[in-house]
Amino acid sequence: MNFSILTIFPEFFDAFVAHGIIRRAIAAEIISVSPVDIRDFADGRHRITDDRPYGGGAGMVMKPEPLCRAINSARHQHPGSRTILLSPQGRPFSQPVAGELARLDSLIFICGRYEGVDERVYRDIDDEISIGDYVLTGGEPAAMIIMDAVTRLLPGALGGAESAEKESFSDDLLEHAHYTRPPVFEGEAVPDVLLSGNHGVIDQWRLESALIRTLLKRPDLLQTKTLDSREKKALKKWCDQIEQLIRS
Ligand code: SAM
Repeated sequence: MNFSILTIFPEFFDAFVAHGIIRRAIAAEIISVSPVDIRDFADGRHRITDDRPYGGGAGMVMKPEPLCRAINSARHQHPGSRTILLSPQGRPFSQPVAGELARLDSLIFICGRYEGVDERVYRDIDDEISIGDYVLTGGEPAAMIIMDAVTRLLPGALGGAESAEKESFSDDLLEHAHYTRPPVFEGEAVPDVLLSGNHGVIDQWRLESALIRTLLKRPDLLQTKTLDSREKKALKKWCDQIEQLIRS
């Protein structure tokens, strides 16, 4: 998977490519990350990429010529790429969207700055994605978030010790609770079941943990999820226990 990032701050990504799973995925040639300086496509000695908005008002707007040239260049290098404008007005990013993008071969991200991009850039855009209902100063952090979430879904990107299969949102559930050593921390013990070595019982405990966490932290996820019979049974067990507590 190739990621081309069109930005006026290419050095923003220096640390991103130098650490952890992203660094490993680059070394293993699972991904390549190519920041592209939009200024390289601007005219004149000052390589200006923004200008005042027609009609007046505050802020600057990213000019269409350098951006469209940069998009064409990235597309030429990576034919068939999906060109994504990062924007608070885009469709919401989520784990299913990460899965959708992970099935593609190449993505081009456009990182806006100032008030955003000239409207005529939209003719060269395939997709517009927002990472949440808030406004950032630029699209660079959004590009990093999307690349990070997509990369972990690519085959071989996570080491054997990590898995993207059973994580939060993979099945409309949050992930179960985790414990590691020591077995007792400040008087609080790890649940016995996790030390039992019985994988069937551990599996059941993890399902119950995932369900109860989702119910408490993100009940909205359960409202749209179709529960299978095992999940219904596990939830009912908790409901019965809560009912007993209320009655006692
Ligand atoms: N004036 C724009 C508006 O109100 O819709 C906001 C522009 S914002 C200050 C500058 C750039 O940051 C945007 O062009 C976009 O690339 C990026 N950005 C800001 N918030 C974002 C978000 N929630 N998701 C993705 N990108 C975002």
